[in-house]
Amino acid sequence: MGKRQANVITEVAARGLCCGCGVCAGVAGAGCLAMRMGREGQYAPAQQGPCTECGLCLGVCPFFVKKAFQPDDPLGPVTSIHVGWSAVPGERERAASGGLVTRTLTALLDRGDVDRVVVVGDTGDPETWFAPMVTADREAVQAAAGSKYAPVEFSGAIGTILAEEGRYAVVGLPCATSGLRLAARKVPVLGRRLRYLFGLVCGHNNTRQYTRFLAAKAGVSGPLRRAVYRLKSDRDGGAFGYGFQAEAPDGRLSSVVPFTGLPSFLWGRRFFAWNCCFYCADVFGSEADASFMDAWLPEYYRVPAGTSIVVTRSAEIRELLEQEIAEGRVVAEPLPREAVLQAQAGAIWYKHRAVGTLLADGNRTAHSLYEWAPAGQPWAPDRETLRAFRQHRRYAAWSRRLGRGYGTPLGWLSHRALELLVGWVRFREQTERRLAARLRWVWRGFQALARHLEKNQ
Ligand SMILES: Cc1cc2nc3c(=O)[nH]c(=O)nc-3n(C[C@H](O)[C@H](O)[C@H](O)COP(=O)(O)OP(=O)(O)OC[C@H]3O[C@@H](n4cnc5c(N)ncnc54)[C@H](O)[C@@H]3O)c2cc1C
Ligand code: SF4
Ligand code: SF4
Ligand code: SF4
Repeated sequence: MGKRQANVITEVAARGLCCGCGVCAGVAGAGCLAMRMGREGQYAPAQQGPCTECGLCLGVCPFFVKKAFQPDDPLGPVTSIHVGWSAVPGERERAASGGLVTRTLTALLDRGDVDRVVVVGDTGDPETWFAPMVTADREAVQAAAGSKYAPVEFSGAIGTILAEEGRYAVVGLPCATSGLRLAARKVPVLGRRLRYLFGLVCGHNNTRQYTRFLAAKAGVSGPLRRAVYRLKSDRDGGAFGYGFQAEAPDGRLSSVVPFTGLPSFLWGRRFFAWNCCFYCADVFGSEADASFMDAWLPEYYRVPAGTSIVVTRSAEIRELLEQEIAEGRVVAEPLPREAVLQAQAGAIWYKHRAVGTLLADGNRTAHSLYEWAPAGQPWAPDRETLRAFRQHRRYAAWSRRLGRGYGTPLGWLSHRALELLVGWVRFREQTERRLAARLRWVWRGFQALARHLEKNQ
């Protein structure tokens, strides 16, 4: 029997840890690895040509290179923090939150600080929906605004950057920016050309089946051409007043599903979540030159147009932002560090608690990914947290597995099975809540009776 080759396929993807970022395939080249969409609706590397075990793919993989677990410093180094929005007409409306990513990328192009940027745009292709696009076209950057809660992979964009001289800025999720940072250190050409990396704060991401499930519920079953996850559709809903909408290949639009309904139910319980997200402690993309996020703070909840927070880690990006503010293209004010931590408290709690608990519990996968100094860390595997994570991991695994039928003639069966799973979880939670309410009621009655008897003794 031949020796098993050690590369990202055997060491990362086979262990269910791949986030599908495509950095490995991008640097390794098409003669070696290529990204493929798997049956569960997530990208992973596949062998294209012979492997010489050079180790390059492993050395750039965010889920292979060991990192420190740093719950005490989730933000990483900070140069400035602002809260605000783009004042350029249309930018904020089209954006996920306040449009500061789109504004920053456009300003970099306008000032000539970079030659091209990499944004995730609609492909209009029912096979891919979205893909990173390398562009200098301001309209393409504007059209790419908005969050895509679906897999995207960067191997093609990295190939372009390696092939074409220039200065580039890339926006991605923390896993992708961390892989790109590793690649920039390993591959000198990439290091020279990747001028800025921008991170989107991330709680977790989902397989394509999340989108297919929502689309089918909203009236577009079968192939999709496009999906919009944050259509600012309900002004009364404030910052949470956005919805999901899908478009069929013939241009037919689905109804708009409010985020606070089914999407939020699925999101909160990690249905369709990638397995690697349960092992990811990077909330902010702390290796990026700037991180962008929603201003989930009480003073901005009621603002339906959306508000962004931006944390810069580079004097150049801070200076660019200050110039945009001074010239009226951005409305923003400084924000204290504590407010950022407050705005992202949910994501920080979940991700740090998940990884910290796994580490404290002696989970071998978590220990293979993180350097951990148990002394000084407050984590202990408490039963409630472990129970919740295990439940979420089960929901994620079951929904990924059941979703395998989408895109095949048995797609309707997959969808039906997923509906039953979601319905069962909803029913179970409601029953548990009702039972808990009854028990509280009985307990209060019992206490009242005890008080009454005591008084009348
Ligand atoms: C999967 C996911 C999870 C997120 N989780 C959180 C969270 O928990 N808390 C929070 O505050 N914010 C989260 N965000 C970030 C948030 O949704 C906004 O992207 C952020 O507030 C920036 O908004 P904006 O209006 O400045 O960006 P915009 O001006 O709308 O620009 C967004 C840019 O991001 C790019 N982009 C969109 N989707 C992707 C993607 N999947 N991969 C790479 N690039 C992409 C677009 O091409 C565009 O250039 C998440 C985003 C994603 C995609
Ligand atoms: S040849 Fe190198 S880069 Fe290619 S798969 Fe093997 S180890 Fe990875
Ligand atoms: S670099 Fe990205 S795509 Fe490649 S194996 Fe690692 S996580 Fe997966
Ligand atoms: S939680 Fe981590 S691994 Fe998952 S999508 Fe977000 S950054 Fe990537």
